[in-house]
Amino acid sequence: MFIELTDHLRCPADHDESFLVLLPDRIEGRSVLSGQLGCPVCGRTFELEQGVLDTGNAPEWTDEGRSILDPDALTALVGLQGPGGYLTLVGSAGSRWKEVAELNPGIALVAVNPPPEVTDAPGISLLRGGRIPLKSRAMRGVVLGRRYADDPYWVKEAARVVLPGLRVVGEGVNPPPEVIDLMASADGIWVGTGHKERER
Ligand SMILES: [Zn+2]
Repeated sequence: MFIELTDHLRCPADHDESFLVLLPDRIEGRSVLSGQLGCPVCGRTFELEQGVLDTGNAPEWTDEGRSILDPDALTALVGLQGPGGYLTLVGSAGSRWKEVAELNPGIALVAVNPPPEVTDAPGISLLRGGRIPLKSRAMRGVVLGRRYADDPYWVKEAARVVLPGLRVVGEGVNPPPEVIDLMASADGIWVGTGHKERER
């Protein structure tokens, strides 16, 4: 996990959003390979092993086929202009992250609950959890893979973590209109921005 991502992590518990404190065991360059992250609010601790932070309750992976969203299309839809910041890929959206990284130079990638073949490597930070364990309004874009895009809970999570006005892309049925302002939708892929109502 990219050490600077620590600033954007949050405890998954349902209390006010709080940072997590990193207690590293092993760091190589700018990557944390093992350690613990602790929540100063509720006292929970989360293990980071083999570069992967697990905050618990991640849905079990079921092989529902490859993402139909190829890296070129994904890049065009999420529409990031210029380097800096983070792009989060949820579920199967993380399967071709290396090509996504090449197409988006200078953007740090975060994979949440990726397919099992995706392992820790420079250029990707791997998180697991029953929600997106990132602070609100912290990401430049979020892509929801299959199954996740069909679930309003995960759509809300994506809308929560993306920066205001920036995009969420999903592979699935159209998102709830009270969560996402839809920009376009075709062939089971949609793109939109977080709805303003979430800011209440
Ligand atoms: Zn907590």
